[in-house]
Amino acid sequence: MESESVPSILCHPDAKKSCGACCGMYNHVDPGADALGERLEQRTRAFHQSADITDPESLKAFRRTWEDESSKKLLNELPSCPFLGFVDDSDEKFGRVGCLVHPLQNEGIDGRDCGVYDRFICEDYLCAAHDILKTSEIRLILDAVDDSYLYGLVITNPRFVRSLLEIIASRTGGSPASATLRRPDVIGAAGACFELMRDWPHRGADGIFGQVEVAGPLETRRRRLSSEHLGVEREEIDILLVCLGTECASVAELVQARKRMEEPLAELVETIRSGS
Ligand code: SF4
Ligand code: SF4
Repeated sequence: MESESVPSILCHPDAKKSCGACCGMYNHVDPGADALGERLEQRTRAFHQSADITDPESLKAFRRTWEDESSKKLLNELPSCPFLGFVDDSDEKFGRVGCLVHPLQNEGIDGRDCGVYDRFICEDYLCAAHDILKTSEIRLILDAVDDSYLYGLVITNPRFVRSLLEIIASRTGGSPASATLRRPDVIGAAGACFELMRDWPHRGADGIFGQVEVAGPLETRRRRLSSEHLGVEREEIDILLVCLGTECASVAELVQARKRMEEPLAELVETIRSGS
């Protein structure tokens, strides 16, 4: 039985996965896993070939070459750091991402001042997930997600996780206990729900950010529910759809999206019920 405890900092929770969202990992017009993995691989290789952590000029030159121009970003003016790369020599499909100029990667030498922020911002920033998510929710994510691409999407989308568990509570007659969320069958079924985030077919151009919608070069707003937008009656599942960045052009597409979300959700509910 794994420990109920969770790390207090969620960026690098274990040896398999990590998150690079606040370094700008998903802020690209093509944020899909294959394209992103390829970009990070190229960048990591180039970093090890051309940059020298002891030489700030080489880091600045690397940044000039590898930083995305604004036309390639979803939030054009939000920095996207070229020093985010893969930090393990692993054959995993999407292994741990991290800061290539972090002192822990470079025998104590810190190159973060050459990145898009500075070492103090990089060191101190913690996203809202740290305040919002409960221990049992974090534990479920850590148990159910095994790669960095999906982990970064799920851990930075606490509304999806909370809403999922609220819907389950409404259908099963109460919030699932922490012990229930540790059952392997429940972890597997929850993982199938999280898995939808990887390549959700109904998301808008900026839907990788979930409920956060791009409203300008640096501005965001909260995405409207598709049911509201289309003028049809709201269903409980619609909150999950908006957290997946869903934008439906027609009622028929909304029906399809709801069905696609409902399948793993119903399976998760059934799995929880079967053990109670
Ligand atoms: S978005 Fe949150 S979990 Fe991800 S690296 Fe930043 S602070 Fe850590
Ligand atoms: S320098 Fe800062 S923003 Fe850039 S990859 Fe490292 S931690 Fe992220």
